[in-house]
Amino acid sequence: MTFAVFDSHLHTPLCAHATGAPREYALAALNAGLQGLCFTDHMPMPAWYDAPWRMNLAELPQYIEEIQAVQAEFAGRLDVRLGLEADFHPGTEKFVEKILNLHDWDYVIGSVHYLGAWGFDNPEFIDEYANRDLDDLYRDYYALVEGAARSGLFDSLGHLDLPKKFGHLDPNGLYALHALDVVAERGLALDFNTAGWRKPVAQAYPAPDLVRAAAERGLPFVLGSDAHKPEEVGHRFTEAIKQIHDVGGRIVTYRGRARHG
Ligand SMILES: [Zn+2]
Ligand SMILES: [Zn+2]
Repeated sequence: MTFAVFDSHLHTPLCAHATGAPREYALAALNAGLQGLCFTDHMPMPAWYDAPWRMNLAELPQYIEEIQAVQAEFAGRLDVRLGLEADFHPGTEKFVEKILNLHDWDYVIGSVHYLGAWGFDNPEFIDEYANRDLDDLYRDYYALVEGAARSGLFDSLGHLDLPKKFGHLDPNGLYALHALDVVAERGLALDFNTAGWRKPVAQAYPAPDLVRAAAERGLPFVLGSDAHKPEEVGHRFTEAIKQIHDVGGRIVTYRGRARHG
């Protein structure tokens, strides 16, 4: 590959649903031939929100120290960056802003994981899909994505079409295109997230037609495996790169919250 390939969506055991020490992710990145990686563990949120699946506020210094130790260990061999996967959930913006101001992060992904109180990507709560109208679900979901883009808090939008995870495909498509218009207008990038290939839907996020629509709007992509274990680092990146380049898309990385590439 003729450009630096980074995996910019990676978790650590601090979120309580990932395994493997951060240095094992770095070793996996070296083995996969990557030039760099950016850790983006699930950020602390208010205590009432999603507590079992993320680090708490008191653990944030440990996260920073652990990744800085990996940066030092791999200096000169691997470009190790430090970011966060943030959640967009209306009402929590001030809390999120405070966390984002606590450190000089390299990259912040904005993700929507909840519709109201329902964590719709959590396998424990799949049954709830049966109670929902899919058109309404996607309408509400993409309205939140647009809110995330407009909030000004994030560098990219995480796993754009996430509600398809278990196979519940978007019956409409127009809400997604409108959301892409807003994301483009606000100058964010898209997380090209290969985890979808490991889920029941067996499709990366975003879907191929949305990758094309995003490229047409000039939206850049940030490659991410969304690894929750070291062996997932760089998962199917060759295919991801080909898919993006085939539709004329650009691949970028972030450092100090500025876009590179
Ligand atoms: Zn996670
Ligand atoms: Zn996520």
